[in-house]
Amino acid sequence: MKQFKVFLSLVIVIVFSSFVFAGSVCDESLQKLMDGNKRYVDGKFANKDVGSTKRQELSSKGQKPFAIVVTCSDSRVPPEILFDQGLGDIFVVRVAGNVVDPIALGSVEYGAEHLNSPLVFILGHTKCGAVTATLEAKGKPEGNIGAIVKKIQPAAAVAKKKGGTKEEMLETAIHENIKNVYNDMMKNSKILPHLVHEGKLKIVGGEYDITTGKVAMMELPKKAESKKSH
Ligand SMILES: [Zn+2]
Repeated sequence: MKQFKVFLSLVIVIVFSSFVFAGSVCDESLQKLMDGNKRYVDGKFANKDVGSTKRQELSSKGQKPFAIVVTCSDSRVPPEILFDQGLGDIFVVRVAGNVVDPIALGSVEYGAEHLNSPLVFILGHTKCGAVTATLEAKGKPEGNIGAIVKKIQPAAAVAKKKGGTKEEMLETAIHENIKNVYNDMMKNSKILPHLVHEGKLKIVGGEYDITTGKVAMMELPKKAESKKSH
């Protein structure tokens, strides 16, 4: 019995420390991104190696990006620059409106499962053209751009219901869209929620201000899966 108790305590310690370790790796990745964003805002870029030595090192040893960033294709939102990161640092999935379909989700899953990135950052941005276009869209969305609009429509509907000025509605829609992307990840992927529950992955969201350069974190829904019951 005594031996069993010792064994049990050992198991508890190992399980607990692995959770703390995993948690700290996710938090460290987030800190790296936010520190990089501060350097970018201050105009004090780190001296990142983007030369041939680094290129060859990554080519022979392979990539091990410490974060996955899902963001908009907008040319004013380049994640490597606004987070001040170098070659091989971040795995980027960029689509207008930072929405995720099966192909984008598959890319996120690849980064998390095969490259072991411990963090997914869903990054929306101010004055997003894709969200603005969705708010202003009339009629049925058609074609390939229509597919993006369809993805953003639920966020636009919430913003219209909430009301306010044009700018306020756009901000609401941008925030709602980030939450919906998170819900998409938790509902339409098997591996991502699994990795989150195991403490190996953290998914966070935020908005990039294209005027100030700052990234502001935002709260994501606590129970994404609860929508299933509706
Ligand atoms: Zn955009």
